Amino acid sequence: LMSLPKLVFPGGALVGDDAGFLNAARIKGSHAAIKTGMLAAEAAFDAVQAVRTSDELTAYPEAFKQSWLYTELYKARNFKHWMSKGLYLGTLMVGLEQKLMGGNVPWTLHHQ
Ligand SMILES: Cc1cc2nc3c(=O)[nH]c(=O)nc-3n(C[C@H](O)[C@H](O)[C@H](O)COP(=O)(O)OP(=O)(O)OC[C@H]3O[C@@H](n4cnc5c(N)ncnc54)[C@H](O)[C@@H]3O)c2cc1C
Repeated sequence: LMSLPKLVFPGGALVGDDAGFLNAARIKGSHAAIKTGMLAAEAAFDAVQAVRTSDELTAYPEAFKQSWLYTELYKARNFKHWMSKGLYLGTLMVGLEQKLMGGNVPWTLHHQ
């Protein structure tokens, strides 16, 4: 979640693994690819109906932030940062965050 790029540009959108929606903590991304494809398609459908052609599908990233997928990826947001600190510390902290606390931690690790 912390490394997602801007998802839309004039005439296009990034979905699934192209954007980086993989839940790396679970190595699962099929559901994320399907969900973001659906959200982008719904935004594109609305744009076509409104005869919009060359603007950005801003409704898609907004819909993503309201979705269960955002909640899921938010809970796993620290995974990659912890694992980059080494196998032992990473395994300990990911286990603490994901198994003991169910991803409900108050801190967010940032990277450059
Ligand atoms: C080893 C491994 C195990 C995994 N296990 C699971 C799991 O158990 N459960 C789970 O949910 N997820 C799992 N994942 C993750 C999951 O596979 C991906 O998150 C998901 O497939 C992403 O879907 P996608 O449609 O975004 O991308 P992809 O599935 O990568 O689809 C992209 C498609 O675009 C095609 N393509 C690329 N370039 C072009 C081009 N120029 N023109 C035309 N076509 C092109 C590719 O050939 C590919 O078929 C696993 C991944 C790996 C690597």
